[in-house]
Amino acid sequence: MHLNHEKSEALFERAKAVIPGGVNSPVRAFKSVGINPIFIERGEGPYIYDVDGNRYIDLICSWGPLILGHSHPALLDGIEKIFQKGTSYGVPSHLEVTMAEMIAEAYPAAERVRMVNSGTEATMSAIRVARGYTGRQKILKFEGCYHGHSDALLVKSGSGTLTYGVPTSPGVPADTVKDTLVGIYNDVEMLESLFAAQGSEIACAIVEVVAGNMGVVPATEAFMAALRRLSTAYGVVLIFDEVITGFRLAYGGASEIYRIDPDMVCFGKIIGGGLPVGAYAGKSDIMAMVSPVGPVYQAGTLSGNPLAMHMGIQTLQYLKAHPELYLQLEEKASYLASEMAAFIETNELPVTFTRFHSMPCLFFAKGPFKCYDDVKNCDTEAYATYFRKMLDKGVLLPPAQFEGLFLSISHDDSVLETYLNASKSTLLEMY
Ligand code: PLP
Repeated sequence: MHLNHEKSEALFERAKAVIPGGVNSPVRAFKSVGINPIFIERGEGPYIYDVDGNRYIDLICSWGPLILGHSHPALLDGIEKIFQKGTSYGVPSHLEVTMAEMIAEAYPAAERVRMVNSGTEATMSAIRVARGYTGRQKILKFEGCYHGHSDALLVKSGSGTLTYGVPTSPGVPADTVKDTLVGIYNDVEMLESLFAAQGSEIACAIVEVVAGNMGVVPATEAFMAALRRLSTAYGVVLIFDEVITGFRLAYGGASEIYRIDPDMVCFGKIIGGGLPVGAYAGKSDIMAMVSPVGPVYQAGTLSGNPLAMHMGIQTLQYLKAHPELYLQLEEKASYLASEMAAFIETNELPVTFTRFHSMPCLFFAKGPFKCYDDVKNCDTEAYATYFRKMLDKGVLLPPAQFEGLFLSISHDDSVLETYLNASKSTLLEMY
């Protein structure tokens, strides 16, 4: 490493003494890329600065929330006023109503919306509601999709669980996951036979419509159409996990792009503008199960927190007022993809640059990538080398092969050019 990471190293030593692995989420550990994590001082637009004063192009963007980049003025506008009015009430505020209205307006499936504090809570709660609604126990998820770390969903999931090779976590009781069925992403035949055999016992199917936790792997239209058709036929509640894709792929997320309405939909990340947040939503008859209307209990001390609601509302209002931003994000990703594809082909490199709308990813293997089995043999050692070299050139990538890049509107042409130059020279150094 050429950059000085002295202060980060010192902080990591302190952190390890009091925080497991020195980090509050495993993907922050940089363990799979063979170095210690950098510690951040501040972010600004597309850049992030570590405590040693190094500046990086940030392609993590807090794993998705920062679609406007760091510290966008639209987000900060008015936050002090909210702060001065108190940070939490424990009784309803007008901000929660506005937020729910904005989500309901953007997603036809979101007839009723309940705020929670993370994506994990959103998917966990949605599943409880679906089970309560159908009176069935079984749930269906897909290999390589990550839906947070609640027990029932920590089976063959993506993200950090793939990176560290523990798709099913110790500590999750076998009884808790015995009703979790795991399907193969994009396998329509499997779906048909699974529903034929067990469809009437399944409460819900939960899916990342564009999987962003095994690299970036979009569902095929045929797969999504089959999942919608079979779910309806067997009375299975179809849940879209739009924690990453919600308000990112389009204002109406993956639901809008695929033109499919789920029965329930989960959110996080962007709707909090960088503050802790999540939401689950659904058709009114399903959501009528939720306490205090119905018997399914779900609650939260800080749910709908005014600061988080303010940041989320500001983000959504900005995105809604500037629909051209989605086109711009799409153009940025498309430019990266065409530049990288041409470079990879010319130099016959053993990597694949892929993207779905504004979600790009560099796989260290040759595609196509349709399911977890296709991505699991990526050369993670090569990714680690690439990551370290890129960091040294001032580009912060997700410290794991099985994650996508997160672009924001602040990643302008010069930032994209710097990324491309760094990426190309790194790949040439490696191969
Ligand atoms: N669902 C998806 C698709 C995610 O990517 C994540 C987190 O990355 C989650 C759920 C869990 O969200 P959180 O980390 O806010 O609990």
